[in-house]
Amino acid sequence: MGSGGSVAEPADDLARVGVFARAWAKALTGTSYFPLTHAQLETLLQRLTDQLAEALRSEPLDLRAGHRVAAELVTAHIASAEALGRTVEVIQLRLVRDLDLVTDDIADRMARLIAAIATGYARALRDRTLDEQEAIRRAAQTARAEAERALRASEARFRHQATHDPLTDLPNRTLFADRLAAVCAGHPAGDHRIGLCFLDIDRFKRINDSYGHQIGDRALVAAAQRLSRAVEPHLVARLGGDAFMILVERSTGTGDVVAVAESALAAMAEPALVGGHDITVTASVGVVERRVAGTTPDDLLRAAGSTLQWAKHAGGAGWALYDAERDGREQARQALSAAIPGGLERGEFYLDYQPLTSLQDGSMLGVEALVRWRHPQLGVLRPDRFIGLAEETGLIVPLGSWVLAEACREAVGWSASTGEPPYVSVNLAVRQVRQVDLVQEVCGLLQRTGLPPDRLQLEITESMMMSSAEQPVRALRALADLGVRIAIDDFGTGYSNLAYLRDLPVTELKVAGEFVRGLRAPEAPDERILASLVSLAHALDLTVTAEGVETVGQAERLRAIGCDAGQGWHFGRPAPAEHILARLR
Ligand code: C2E
Ligand code: CA
Ligand code: CA
Repeated sequence: MGSGGSVAEPADDLARVGVFARAWAKALTGTSYFPLTHAQLETLLQRLTDQLAEALRSEPLDLRAGHRVAAELVTAHIASAEALGRTVEVIQLRLVRDLDLVTDDIADRMARLIAAIATGYARALRDRTLDEQEAIRRAAQTARAEAERALRASEARFRHQATHDPLTDLPNRTLFADRLAAVCAGHPAGDHRIGLCFLDIDRFKRINDSYGHQIGDRALVAAAQRLSRAVEPHLVARLGGDAFMILVERSTGTGDVVAVAESALAAMAEPALVGGHDITVTASVGVVERRVAGTTPDDLLRAAGSTLQWAKHAGGAGWALYDAERDGREQARQALSAAIPGGLERGEFYLDYQPLTSLQDGSMLGVEALVRWRHPQLGVLRPDRFIGLAEETGLIVPLGSWVLAEACREAVGWSASTGEPPYVSVNLAVRQVRQVDLVQEVCGLLQRTGLPPDRLQLEITESMMMSSAEQPVRALRALADLGVRIAIDDFGTGYSNLAYLRDLPVTELKVAGEFVRGLRAPEAPDERILASLVSLAHALDLTVTAEGVETVGQAERLRAIGCDAGQGWHFGRPAPAEHILARLR
């Protein structure tokens, strides 16, 4: 047995490698931070020791083994200058001896191997640095890409939030307006048609009131989902509250859009189970369908709004189709109502008067003031054209005040050649009687004009007296106490209940023209009804004036029945105050 490594027993060889590797590991301790455990380090170094021994024994000397060992050390993060120094040192001092590798040219071989390790080390370090730089560059790139993606995502989220309703996640008014504007701008000429369905849930407030807002919100979300599924692929936007708009970007005629409205209504009417409650709603839809050319988004929206109101007024749970004629009429009414305040300011209103004539002696007991509007464009308008509007908008209050003041101002100058001058009878709208300062207003007027209270009569409607409110009755009583006459206008068209009149401060009944028109044959049922009405009224201390008396025959019958006075064309048409005054003289 020689001492040459080549003949050593394998087990013996293993032990030698272990000895050297342990020494090597020890030498490296503290040179740098290794991510390896001590055991892992020893295993690694044993393997590298094997490779070095192999290289030293090879013929010719395998220098690439030196490079490989160095590269592995660097890969294992044994990469500091100090680690290299210790490695070279331990190899120089111990490798040949520990592994028993003595040969003739061992010194030369060792020198070349160590040089190869150093070279390999330097190369591996340089490669690692390049790799690291590359890795850093790549990491930076990835990070930038990620940041950009996140930014885009948050931009998209932001855009989504700005264009969608947070509750239902449907497109909101902004997105809808953009799309509508785009469709309109895209077809300034040509035959392209567009449709809108403006949908509003009927009496949705009741859901909120009975189940609370949380259930209400969930019902709304469920309804929104049903709706957008039902009318796909059309855009459904929530405009707020329980109002939705469906945009039909391309239509071939009203039928297309009505079909969308019907699908929407059917979807809305589906029952939903929300929070354990069965919730069923209905909706109303305003449908507008027209050529894009010649219309604007504003026009379309306004038309859809009006049409929705028509659907609501028709009782809900259905659709209405835009009707230009009806819309024109309503807009004209709207314009007329808006012109009332200006008309009042410019003195465009005036009063005509119509005699209330005694059926006993033909004298003029009073005159009714009837308002007219000399409209600069439309000519003279009868009250039927604007009183209803003024009542709806509340403009009847200033208009009625003007009538009252004007009537008192004119009436105070009237005098009769014989007997009392006639009283002036002024129509009061319900709203006026509800004004808390009505009594004050009338008192002030009588004081300022000097008109005796019993020369003013106020005509109010039956329905007004039937209302359960206390205030109007108190006001009328106060006025009656002053001496002002109170008449019930158009009696017989409403409740026709005499019993409640007993407790009210009423002085006169004006029987509606309808009753008078029925007076033909002496024994006609209308005549008997009228006769008993008159006797009942007299029993309650009320005088009776018949309206709409157009013929001498009617006047005769009314007198025979016992009616006190008549008003109508037979006695005189409404006319300006001068004409009435002429008749008095
Ligand atoms: P009303 O109070 O029933 O007034 C009588 C209406 O019958 C008047 O119409 C009058 O012109 C019309 N009339 C008079 N005699 C005859 C007749 O023999 N045959 C027919 N067919 N009609 C006759 P007018 O002036 O158009 O007034 C309409 C209504 O407008 C009035 O009905 C009254 O309710 C309301 N009104 C008029 N002026 C005022 C006012 O100043 N304030 C308020 N709140 N309402 C007023
Ligand atoms: Ca009247
Ligand atoms: Ca009347």
